[in-house]
Amino acid sequence: MSQAVKLESKKLQKLGISTIEELLYYFPTRYENRTVKPVSGLVDGEEAVVCGIVINVVKSTPRPKLKMLKAMLQDSTGCEIKATWFHDLPKINPGNEIAVFGKVKVSPVWGSEISVKDYITIDGNIPASFTGLLPVYPLTKGVSQKFIHNAVRAALHTARLAEFMPQSIRERYKLISLMEAMKQIHFPGSQELLYQAWRRLAFDELFLLQLALRVKRESVVNSPKDKRYSSTNLLVDKFIKQLPFQLTSSQIAAWNDIQADLIGDYPMRRLLLGDVGSGKTVVAALALLKAAESNLQGILMAPTGILAAQHYETLSKWFGDLGIKVALFTGGTKDYLDDAQVIIGTHALIQDGVRFTRPGIIVIDEQHRFGVEQRLTLQEKAGRPDMLVMTATPIPRTLALTAYGDMSLSVMDSMPPGRMPVKTYVTRDKERVKQFMYHEVRKGRQCYVICPLVEQSATLDLEDAVALHSELSREIQPYKVGLLHGRMRAEEKEEVMYQYKRGELHVLVSTTVIEVGVDVPNATVMVVTGADRFGLAQLHQLRGRVGRGDHQSYCILLAEPKTETAIKRLKAMVQHNNGFTLADIDLKLRGPGEFFGERQAGMVNFKLASLDNLGMVEAAKMSADEVEMTPELSDELERRFGNRLHG
Ligand code: ADP
Ligand code: MG
Repeated sequence: MSQAVKLESKKLQKLGISTIEELLYYFPTRYENRTVKPVSGLVDGEEAVVCGIVINVVKSTPRPKLKMLKAMLQDSTGCEIKATWFHDLPKINPGNEIAVFGKVKVSPVWGSEISVKDYITIDGNIPASFTGLLPVYPLTKGVSQKFIHNAVRAALHTARLAEFMPQSIRERYKLISLMEAMKQIHFPGSQELLYQAWRRLAFDELFLLQLALRVKRESVVNSPKDKRYSSTNLLVDKFIKQLPFQLTSSQIAAWNDIQADLIGDYPMRRLLLGDVGSGKTVVAALALLKAAESNLQGILMAPTGILAAQHYETLSKWFGDLGIKVALFTGGTKDYLDDAQVIIGTHALIQDGVRFTRPGIIVIDEQHRFGVEQRLTLQEKAGRPDMLVMTATPIPRTLALTAYGDMSLSVMDSMPPGRMPVKTYVTRDKERVKQFMYHEVRKGRQCYVICPLVEQSATLDLEDAVALHSELSREIQPYKVGLLHGRMRAEEKEEVMYQYKRGELHVLVSTTVIEVGVDVPNATVMVVTGADRFGLAQLHQLRGRVGRGDHQSYCILLAEPKTETAIKRLKAMVQHNNGFTLADIDLKLRGPGEFFGERQAGMVNFKLASLDNLGMVEAAKMSADEVEMTPELSDELERRFGNRLHG
């Protein structure tokens, strides 16, 4: 293990650096390109190094507190340039040979000027330390670039960082050695070498993060599970045959991933990431059925009673002919569970007193709606079950690999065939939107109207919704308009949702409490008012509520966008129907910070790596999953993550 060599420097401590390693991992934020140029070759606005003989020196004090020195330099070709210093004036005299670095101004009238940032007196040759790509470090008061340069140079000379990256990975991805990367990231020999250094060190960050997540994952799921699944797929195959449609290739791929996990040595921890409407429920059904077929219980937890009931209905229908006993367990319905083969429920499943007799597989739907706590409680109750979590919030693959690095990932990125894409429009003409809704309702269709999100004010939300509800009730007569908002009790909300599902309500005005995952195929219009105040992911989720049946569906975004970003978001909604594409755009618009929330916060703290680089993120993830743990790697993880590794 490389020693943590203590540094006693007060100045470095100001920058939070107390060991030689911390100093080496204190990376430059940019580089000065110090190319030596003749005066005649200078370009206006660039930074460059010029050398010449001092012809004359003029000191002045143009303003009280502003000291200035101007010197005329002549380069070896005889061309002249005026060099200017402020404050830190040099001790130079006519006849001295010097090299100066700074920003250049070239004017046909005034000639060339250079505003000096750094200089050195020379004797024919310029020392290498003055030219090339020179690092620029983040500074604090009382610490100069020169000081850090010297400290880093000394550190590079004495430090021996242990190479922790296994040779096989370095070879596969052509990564340069750690010490070489350190040298080149601080004092690059060329742009190419700088790139190679960045590649190695950025890969380290992604790779070690993935490895840390793997260690966490393995410490949760640390011992092999029993072999408990039947080796045949009698029920599963029968079920697939009797489905009214063919599985998509994404569904088959996800199911294959799951089967491999089930027969694997450790409990499954898999995230199924699928766009709204990509058909995750069928995949869940296959997993639940596999448990049932193996004389174990398949458990499905959904975030709301409506959703649980909807799953219960669907699965009872699908499993009816197979003789599988399905039970529902929510706040309102508490079936007897002991002899049930498939159990569907809500949070009620994690209440005290509920116990599972033969838990096998747990599926959590719309996982983003549950806290980590709830997932863990369910896991505890069920022992160490195989677990599949599903989410319809598409996040870019790179983020998924990182934010959920402690799980394996299956992505469903294709839709069942024959879906008509939802047509999306942006408008500010509320009257026209109302006419359109009326038109659709008269054809027998149904509409959703989502009210604006008023930040930090549930009350205002409510007022808006109530006002809009009475306005529409008046204007869309004789059709019926329902209202759904966060102040209603759960049973009231469910009752309204059921009325809507049964077609007794034609228009549903709702605040953003509208339930995720609800399936009303007859609904063809999603109106979002104040759409500029919603995030892309949320708009896409809302749009996913329509386009589920045989009729052409529409998403109408009522908005008067004021900011550039809001305009871009709405444009993206009009142009793209794919959740993953939108998630990528969202990532670009918002940056990765906001995606993470509490999850892994503090672990994802990259200095060099970027989550935009899918190739590198995937390579790092694959390497981390396959690599054999070594003492060097454990040491490095400990050094980088310490307590966060065990917490
Ligand atoms: P989500 O992934 O949003 O949970 P669902 O599982 O609710 O999506 O599926 C949406 C709809 O697509 C359902 O009506 C379902 O029956 C249907 N569906 C699922 N898979 C297929 C398929 N392979 N072919 C045709 N329709 C499918
Ligand atoms: Mg769903």
